[in-house]
Amino acid sequence: MKREDFAILKERVHGRELVYLDNAATSQKPQAVIDAISEAYTHWNSNIHRGVHHLSQVATSKHEEARQKVADFIGAKSSDEIIFTKGTTDSLNALAFSFGEAFIGEGDEIIVSGLEHHSNIVPWQMLCERKKAVLRHIPLREDLSLDIEAFKGFLSARTKLVSVAHVSNVLGTIQPIEEIIRLAHAQGVPVCIDGAQSVPHMQVNVQALDCDFLAFSGHKMYGPTGIGVLYGKREWLEKLPPHEGGGEMINHVRWSGTTYNELPYKFEAGTPNFVGSYALSKAIDYIQALGWEAIEAHERELTEYCEAQLSAIEGVHIYAEHQPKAGVISFNIFTNHQSPITTHQSLLHPFDIGTLLDQQGVAVRTGHHCAEPLIDSLGVPGTVRVSFGLYNDKADIDAFIAALKKAIMMLS
Ligand code: PMP
Repeated sequence: MKREDFAILKERVHGRELVYLDNAATSQKPQAVIDAISEAYTHWNSNIHRGVHHLSQVATSKHEEARQKVADFIGAKSSDEIIFTKGTTDSLNALAFSFGEAFIGEGDEIIVSGLEHHSNIVPWQMLCERKKAVLRHIPLREDLSLDIEAFKGFLSARTKLVSVAHVSNVLGTIQPIEEIIRLAHAQGVPVCIDGAQSVPHMQVNVQALDCDFLAFSGHKMYGPTGIGVLYGKREWLEKLPPHEGGGEMINHVRWSGTTYNELPYKFEAGTPNFVGSYALSKAIDYIQALGWEAIEAHERELTEYCEAQLSAIEGVHIYAEHQPKAGVISFNIFTNHQSPITTHQSLLHPFDIGTLLDQQGVAVRTGHHCAEPLIDSLGVPGTVRVSFGLYNDKADIDAFIAALKKAIMMLS
């Protein structure tokens, strides 16, 4: 994989070579994406859709070509099913509000899972509060997989929507979304997939999955910040009301009332992030030029290599060890403390590990990773999380492991 396309990897941190293992939080950007942003502002910046002049038409076609590129990238039937948002959080909030207005009433139920990111919990909690509906979560089994039998038991005539993460941002584990979608659809229940951690790491095809909605962020897939996507099946999007009002999303505005624009503009109030969409399309080009097969194989090899190195260190506990993962590993370190009477295990605080790694130039994430319910169920204050991107290599992992051993020695 091409490290030289990512200038930031040459930065030095605290006098050390940067080892960037925080890709699940945000990925770095290839030069093509950075150049696209500069190109847009240098050559064709202009507000889109409304202008008859040349620059506006160029900007409009770049934005709409990007929409088509996203549609093809995730296998959507039509670019009308692609709504540009600010990111996954924005996509899920938009859906929760719009779907909630149309389809949720008192006593209705929405199902998420016990390992969700806060952005796939809180918007549904807010909706349930507004509508006096009920939010249920699929519990986790001992091995941290979803309890599908419990999920089957939850599905009923009251269930109106299921929304689950494809890949856990804490554990890296891949959820059985095909089965979840099949079971939900058998009861006529639509399914939203939080693809924030899957779309950057594997081919996700919405038609093959048959999911009803998919949310993801540009900045985690080598694109810019401030752009994301809400995919929705046309038949659903047509039934949903807009979640925001303003310019672009209207057909006509009269004092007597407003009629709304057609798809997808009905859900894109205000000036869209057309520079972001263009730069995102360049990130998609970058991924496609390397190819999913190569990217997936590379990241799988890195994950397995790292997991093997980690598990050889005394006291390391890897969560969901040996389960297939998409570029994310969470762990903690427990040390034995001996007193004259007992031996007890104590946790090396993830924050201390993260700080000592940072001092050695290694960027990892520590804490609850915006998934407090999951972290609570693990019975720890947080974890240390390493996460990979296509530019990481085995040298990064060797540097991380060496730095981790030093950190453990200093803390023990
Ligand atoms: N869901 C998951 C699974 C995530 O990992 C994240 C980002 N950590 C989000 C949602 C939220 O993404 P964003 O902050 O880009 O809106």
